[in-house]
Amino acid sequence: MSEVYETENREVGQWRRFQGTGRWAIMPSPERQKKPEAYLVREKQDFDEKKKRKENCPFCADNLSKGLAKIENPEEPRGAIVEEGTGGIKWLGEKDFKLLSRRVENREWKTCVIKNLHPVLNWMAPETILQQRGDRPYIFADGLGICDLIIESQTHSKPLGVLDKDVCENVILTYLRRFNDLQEGYPRLEYISIFHNHRMEAGATIAHSHTQIFSTPFVPAHIENEISQARNYFEAVAVGNCPFCDMIKKEEQNDERVLRKNRSFIAITPFDSGSPFEIWILPIRHNLSFGNVNDPVIGGRILEGIKEDEIGELADILTWILGRLYVCVDDPGYNFVISTSPLHFAPNVDRYWHWHIRIETQRLDVPAGYEMASQVRVNKLPPESAAMFLKNMGNLFKQEVGNIFQRKPEDIENVLSVIKREFDGGLDLSNEQKNILRTAAKAFQFSEYYTQKEKQKDAGELAKGEETILDRATSWASQ
Ligand SMILES: [Zn+2]
Ligand SMILES: [Zn+2]
Repeated sequence: MSEVYETENREVGQWRRFQGTGRWAIMPSPERQKKPEAYLVREKQDFDEKKKRKENCPFCADNLSKGLAKIENPEEPRGAIVEEGTGGIKWLGEKDFKLLSRRVENREWKTCVIKNLHPVLNWMAPETILQQRGDRPYIFADGLGICDLIIESQTHSKPLGVLDKDVCENVILTYLRRFNDLQEGYPRLEYISIFHNHRMEAGATIAHSHTQIFSTPFVPAHIENEISQARNYFEAVAVGNCPFCDMIKKEEQNDERVLRKNRSFIAITPFDSGSPFEIWILPIRHNLSFGNVNDPVIGGRILEGIKEDEIGELADILTWILGRLYVCVDDPGYNFVISTSPLHFAPNVDRYWHWHIRIETQRLDVPAGYEMASQVRVNKLPPESAAMFLKNMGNLFKQEVGNIFQRKPEDIENVLSVIKREFDGGLDLSNEQKNILRTAAKAFQFSEYYTQKEKQKDAGELAKGEETILDRATSWASQ
């Protein structure tokens, strides 16, 4: 490595950028570099297998408390939704550190934000200014930013899509509160990326459901590019219009790509889907940012993001989608990201940029070389077919009965949880669908897993949610 690229501190990584493309990359600090051998396929598989096991999980309560106890830095943890009184919840931010740590140790938390123990970025203090240095055609800077981890619940083995809707509500509330704390407390940050990876093939290295937040002192190039496309639409194509609001209008008129809609949100499979089951969730109300941002025109004024009373509606749509992906598409790996506004933006951006969530499944049939060569995405499943497939509950059940014996017992339980949620949500079933559901519940009852859970129930060792599922399956099977 040439002298000019070295950082003074061996613990600090480096941002790098080639001015010919404008893309940023982050390099590890000398202390965190991996050896090339770590990427041999077999090594990686062994590593992934170990990570899946519950006893090795750093996010399960006992390990989490042990991990937190070792940390001397008072930045840890950074926030949590905790239980408050009878059924109430409360957000504790990083200023309440001692109280927060105690609540986490006592397991009185619903969701928890902690510092990533293996951060890609080195922690950036609120007052730090990123010093970009140049050595044409390159630009580089210390690898600063903030890496947070959100542990979504205390449940180890269930993905977000099969947990109850109120878990998802707490998760979204945590995203929002942490976003706003970062925005307020770290004025040098320019962009906050919130993303969730489900399953190893989608990049999750730990099975316990979690979300990551990377906050950076610059705006990622691809967000800048998209914003400039939207500006072009606003200034030259449909003057004065937000392209996302126009998209919502068009999808509502046409309806074939609309998956679900409520008062505040709409979910669609986008017209230009680049992958099978690509799904977007957009707020119906025009709004540029998920969380608070600074208005550049009236300095110091804050533009607000999502309102807290809209969170329930977002959770309703998100759990519905993730639940159906789990059941209909056989639990595929997926990523979802919140695509939002930069924290400090140019005038007018608030008129043509509109925050949204993008969900993409991990694809197995990718002609990756062409995509890399052209940035043109190749998709073999039209969004209209994907939408019809996900909406059609009858097909979903039929497919399930066909597959149910091939599933692992814990998957059957998860599938039944999703169906139960839809059922409780007022799903109207035909007699045929009820028959199919009954068959699925019976299949579940024959599993060893069910027998084992029944034993646990008799011994009083079953969690409340699991008990509901068992009771439901039992009553369905006997109907
Ligand atoms: Zn765990
Ligand atoms: Zn809009």
